[in-house]
Amino acid sequence: MNNLCYNNFVMNISDAKRIVFKFGTNVLRNEEKEISLSRIYSFIEEISKLQKKGKEIIIVTSGAVGLGSKQLGVDSSESLSVKQACAAVGQCQLMNIYEDGFNKYSINTAQILLTEDDFSNRIKYLSLSNVLNTLLDMKVIPIINQNDTVSTVELEEAGNPLYGVSFSDNDKLSALVASKLDADLLIILSDIDGLYDDNPKENPNAKLIYEVKEVTEKIEKYAHSASKGGRGGMKTKLEAAKVVTHSGGFVVIANGKSPQIIKRLFEGEKLGTKFYPVEQLSQKRRWIAYATNITGQLVVNDGAKNAIMKNNKSLLAKGVIQVNGSFSRGDVISVLDENKKEFARGIANYSSSDCKKILGEHSDNIYDLLGYKNYDAVITKDNIAFV
Ligand code: GLU
Repeated sequence: MNNLCYNNFVMNISDAKRIVFKFGTNVLRNEEKEISLSRIYSFIEEISKLQKKGKEIIIVTSGAVGLGSKQLGVDSSESLSVKQACAAVGQCQLMNIYEDGFNKYSINTAQILLTEDDFSNRIKYLSLSNVLNTLLDMKVIPIINQNDTVSTVELEEAGNPLYGVSFSDNDKLSALVASKLDADLLIILSDIDGLYDDNPKENPNAKLIYEVKEVTEKIEKYAHSASKGGRGGMKTKLEAAKVVTHSGGFVVIANGKSPQIIKRLFEGEKLGTKFYPVEQLSQKRRWIAYATNITGQLVVNDGAKNAIMKNNKSLLAKGVIQVNGSFSRGDVISVLDENKKEFARGIANYSSSDCKKILGEHSDNIYDLLGYKNYDAVITKDNIAFV
């Protein structure tokens, strides 16, 4: 048995009720880059058994771009519009297979295509969780992918270095879905066995890490560059693990090409890397920390950093030393320390132009400087989340 027990969270993989599976492009294709039907059908069969046992299942699937480019005989990296076209073609292929496969077990599926805006916009974010919960109540398996055909995230990211998007790959997307739905478990299946302490392709002595109690900076240093085919590598998988383990869930990263991987994981075989739950942030803090786009930054002095981190205080204008980017009141922004390292995110009470006018000033002077004063703090403590 995989007895996952840390802090107040006690769980076996087999006890998880709500489970998100994430399938990477490379596990859905064979060596010839064609769809691997046998592998997908074996996932479908195992997942159907789990659902019959009362588990609630959500699938986040990659593969649309990869399958579409094979089908069309084009290189998806040619241009963004070619890639978007590949995604549109490949997505149909993918959904047909999932729908057909699950229907054989009398299970209905639903296609959900998402962009970063569906998470950033709080109203869309709340409505998304309502529909997903309704589908789960109806015993339908939601099958989710990033809506590459309309997503412009890659353009936006390239255009503005201050702009932080909620997700640009399916690893993070699967984590946001798991976090929003309070899933007990996220299983990420890709073409690697798990997290190694060094690059296994370059160092034959690299060791697989079976258990991670917390994604610390040391653990993050183990991440290697992206795997070919999909968008994510170990770095995005660790980011995903961080989101879910701070939302009270646990995460497994394992090799989807290993035979009967899902069955073996649920039987408790020692496979892949497991990440233990660390804490359960409130839903609002999860949205601030992980789910929404970032439009600007405040750099603060050490005194303000300590007040926020150690004494749970709001961020006052007095502690702000620099304002970057252009943001409005109500936007989520990054809070950086004097070394320009991000340590928190929060909802701004004042716009970037107003922040520039009150930076370094005592809160009592805000009215005189701006002609109005809605809040003493630039970010109120309840609207701050650590990252
Ligand atoms: N959404 C992309 C696809 O279906 C993959 C993105 C990713 O692998 O992160 O091809």
